[in-house]
Parts: sequence; structure tokens; C-alpha cells
Amino acid sequence: MTAPTPHTATSRPSALPNLPEDIETPAYVLDVALLKRNLATAERIKRETGIKMLLATKAWAMPAVFPLMRDTLDGTTASGLYEALLGREEFGKEVHVYTPAYTEQEVEELTFVADHIYFNTPAQLRRFGPMAQAAGVHAGIRINPGFSMATLGGDLYNPCAPGSRFGTPADQLEEVPWDGVHTLHAHALCEATHEGSAGLIAHVARNFASYLKRVKAVNFGGGHFINKPGYDVGKLIAALKDFRAGFPHLDVILEPGAGLVVDTGYLVATVLDTMKNGSDIAILDTSASTHMPDVLEVPYRPEIIGAGEPGEKAHTYILGGKTCMTGDVIGTYSFDQPLKLGDRLVFTDMMQYSFVKNTTFNGTPLPDLAMLDEDGTYRVVKSYGYQQFRERLG
Ligand SMILES: *Cc1c(COP(=O)(O)O)cnc(C)c1O
Repeated sequence: MTAPTPHTATSRPSALPNLPEDIETPAYVLDVALLKRNLATAERIKRETGIKMLLATKAWAMPAVFPLMRDTLDGTTASGLYEALLGREEFGKEVHVYTPAYTEQEVEELTFVADHIYFNTPAQLRRFGPMAQAAGVHAGIRINPGFSMATLGGDLYNPCAPGSRFGTPADQLEEVPWDGVHTLHAHALCEATHEGSAGLIAHVARNFASYLKRVKAVNFGGGHFINKPGYDVGKLIAALKDFRAGFPHLDVILEPGAGLVVDTGYLVATVLDTMKNGSDIAILDTSASTHMPDVLEVPYRPEIIGAGEPGEKAHTYILGGKTCMTGDVIGTYSFDQPLKLGDRLVFTDMMQYSFVKNTTFNGTPLPDLAMLDEDGTYRVVKSYGYQQFRERLG
């Protein structure tokens, strides 16, 4: 692993990737060199603090690349049974899992698959904890630390928002059967800067010390946006070292998803047609609602390499998707040249919460899943045909 370089705004992909001319689109493309850059950050944090780090497969799961990540990371964390199975079968190190509420059958199956099961409430822990412990699986409790520093989407992505169902609130922690708890879990962040990460760690140390003394490990969840330009990794490392000095008996775990794969890949699309209705419009072979669900849900505006804000360059277009939903619009962008049939557009930062989350709404075929290797080789890992579409319908 090479030494990490400081991440600045210029480390974001701004030049067109070296993609072969003849690839099929749409395609989500992981850029392996950029993933290695991000893994170097994870490696540094682990080396300087001695913590464990897991990949949250909820945000991104590309088993073809797990061998590359296995040396650096300690395992995966799952949002449910299927992701836990994926972690066990394809990643092969520690498997952690958290779901807001389990069925008995899920816990039974998970005792064969997971090493750590996190429960959301004292009731779930009392009901299923003994089953986990009998199978040699560590039980954890997710607390609601009452710490709000999610930077994305207001309260839509804030686990500590008023009325949140995530984690046991502080005033009910006395009801937790602590003797059976191995790990205290506190996930509260989303796309947080170092201030969010360090703030959460200090907040948990200050407010939950009596419980921390009773457990063997603490998991500070995901949402640590460690590879985002502007995130000061040194500040996270300092906060982790402070925490470890205060609680030397605890294993410390982070489980980022987005922060491991931010700015490591693309969604490559092609212009299928252009038209006018007041404004110039281009219709693409991709779609916001099916291939970039977070563009509409968060919402946010993805970057396109070489494109500008509306009016910034000579030719401005509304970019529309190929579904029949009026709101399936990616945004308004400007270009140096008029767009024409066959032009290729490269959307950046399209790894986290894209292909794991998309749908086949309208029967729209899913993009190829591919890798651009460091030597310029382009490998299609998976392509989707009618059969895959049909299988998803049962
Ligand atoms: C979503 C989630 C993560 C990963 O969050 P990112 O924002 O992708 O880093 C980790 N742990 C839990 C419990 C989560 O719900």
C-alpha cells in the first residue's frame, strides 16, 4: 500500500478516464486506482490507531473487488441477512449485522453467518441475545447517542432525528441486560466531516462512560466521509487516540460505506436524442430514478466531467432519463459543443448508493458493472439481460 496523499479538491476525477471507445453504456465503472487511493486512507487510520474497519455493504458491494480490500479491512457489516451472507461468502473476514428488528428465523440463520449481531432495543436483545450467545455470536446493542451531525439531506439521513427508530434512547439504557452485551454500537453520522466523527467519539466517551466500562468493544458506525476532500483524517486519528487512552480495554470499530468508495467510479451514459421544448433537452440511455436514485431522493446534482452549470458554457441542456416519469431529470448542465446522438457523458462519484439501490422501474435494463484496471484493461464484471430482470420479479 502506498503512502496516503492529502486529499484536496483536485484529487477528484476531473479528466476523462481512459475508457475504451467501444464500451456498452450505460455502465457503472469502478476505477481501481482511485479505490486503492481510498484504501490507503483506511490503512493509515488503522495503522496509526489500531482500530478495526469494516465495509458497510449497504453503500457499495462489488464482490469482484473484495480481494483487493481484504488485506486492508477487517470484514463487512450488513444491513440484513442477504448482505451478511454476501459478506460471509465473498469477503470472508468478520461479519457484523444490524437490522432495526429481526424475525426469529433471521436470527437463527444469522447465527450461522455472522460474528456480531447488533440489536436495536432491549426487547430484541432479551428475546434473541441468548440464541446468539449460545451459538458463540457476540451480541451488541445499538444506542441512540442523541448526537446530530449528519450533513446530508437534513433529517432524511439523520439517525438521531426526533422520533427516530434507530437505537435505544439514553433514558432507556438501564433496561438493557448489559451482562450479555459485547459491543456498544453508536451510528449517528452521514457524509460527516472530521468534526462529525470527532464530535461523536467525544460525545459517546463523555455521556456513556458507565456503559462503555461494561462492554468489550465500541462501534462508531458509518458516515465517516474519510476520503472526501476537506475531511481531515489527522483529526479523526487524534480523536480515536484520545478515546483509546480513556478506554484502553475496548476494541474500537468503524464501519464506513460511502467514505471508502467516494469518488472512485463513474456512470457512463450515451445521448440517445435531443429535442427542444422551451429549453434544449437531451435524452440519455440512463435515468435518475432507476440508475441514480439518490439524485432524486437526497436530492443532489451529480458532476459530469467537462460540463458546467447552466449557462456557464455555450450550450445548456436539461438531461432527461429514458423512463416515462416526468421527474426523471438528472439536472441542467452546459457544454462547450452542442450535444448529439452518440455523445458519451461521464457522471462522477457514482459508486456509493447507486447500483446497490437502483431498480428496474419501467423494465429499464440495468447498466453493466465493470472495472477499469490500472493498465487500461476494461472488464465487464456483470451485464444484465431480460433473464436477470425476470428473476427479480420472482
Ligand atoms: C448506513 C450505515 C453505515 C454506512 O454508512 P455510510 O454513510 O455509507 O458510511 C454503517 N452502519 C450503519 C448501522 C448504517 O446504517
